[in-house]
Amino acid sequence: MEFRDLKQQYAHMNGEINEAVLKVMAEGGFISGWEVRDLEKKLAEYVGAKYCVTCANGTDALLLALKVWEIGPGDAVFVPDFTFFSTGEAVAAVGAVPVFVDVERDTFNLSPEALEKSIEIVLAKGKLRPRAVIPVDLFGHPADYGAIKRIVEQYGLLILEDGAQGFGGMFKGKRSCSFGHISTTSFFPAKPLGCYGDGGAIFTDREDWNNLLRSLCIHGKGEDKYDNVRIGMNSRLDTMQAAILAVKLRAFTDYELDAVNLAAEEYGRRLKGIVCIPLVKKECVSSWAQYTIILDSEKERDGLCLYLKEKEIPSFVYYRKEMHAQKAFQDKCVITDCPNSSYLVKRVLSLPIHPYMKQHEIEQVCHYIGEYKSGQR
Ligand SMILES: *Cc1c(COP(=O)(O)O)cnc(C)c1O
Repeated sequence: MEFRDLKQQYAHMNGEINEAVLKVMAEGGFISGWEVRDLEKKLAEYVGAKYCVTCANGTDALLLALKVWEIGPGDAVFVPDFTFFSTGEAVAAVGAVPVFVDVERDTFNLSPEALEKSIEIVLAKGKLRPRAVIPVDLFGHPADYGAIKRIVEQYGLLILEDGAQGFGGMFKGKRSCSFGHISTTSFFPAKPLGCYGDGGAIFTDREDWNNLLRSLCIHGKGEDKYDNVRIGMNSRLDTMQAAILAVKLRAFTDYELDAVNLAAEEYGRRLKGIVCIPLVKKECVSSWAQYTIILDSEKERDGLCLYLKEKEIPSFVYYRKEMHAQKAFQDKCVITDCPNSSYLVKRVLSLPIHPYMKQHEIEQVCHYIGEYKSGQR
């Protein structure tokens, strides 16, 4: 069994993908080909944003957004304590200070209550200027944008939505990657919408920020790439990846997002009452970047992971360490009280999930989890 079966996905659409790749090779427009602009239009339309700028990966996407806002030394940016490293890395990389904020136990996402407390703590200390919040749509479930928007407006901060795992998800009828003043996503192969290498995208409704992003991702270009008006980066999505993504976006919207939600429902039916299953809030749709259960203890979690491995079922711990416990951030971050994040790193386990997962595979995973929990191993 595969954790995320990209081979099976390719088998479903290899004709179209091969054709798309061969076409790019024949045309020779490997960088900034028409396929890239075409994809940006489709992505913007799908998420409901005015503008989309593609770039080299999801980490660059976050960096570019922070650069647009000129966030740097002396600035505080609020980041969930339970997320992938990039979310905090981008903040530290521009010289600003990540303030790690606790998450909710049931959705794994930034806790609005903890966010407000953290902002007050930073203001009271008076050393850093609060500038932005980076809510993450962790494991595919949108953050609580209703509450987060109210707080952000009260304190005059910006929202940078990290939708690297959230593409396709919904909150109150709107798609993920449309909730930030700027929003980002990643096309790393294992993300809900993945390409065949690295890739990323940035979304905004503001024309001036769109223009700045287009300049920043091509060496701070002015009139053209040999007229350089600011210090930028070299961060573009290859034409080949854009052509692949156009095919995969169609499959994603036509059936993959529905199929992965059916798989999650099947898990839910079978695991309910046996282990703590992930919550989907009633105003939300998840895109299921991960299906993550919560066990009673670290010992039980690690034991189950091993037990499944013996049965040739892959499972992974996302994430084993709080952000504030990462060595790279020691003396570079502000740590606030994060009891839920510390609770989760010891107890979470992510199970295989993808749109091509078969009913009997889910049954098998759940069977062994039941066996383990009831002590019949
Ligand atoms: C994957 C991921 C990123 C970074 O994306 P890359 O394309 O790998 O650079 C950022 N944030 C989160 C939450 C992610 O899961």
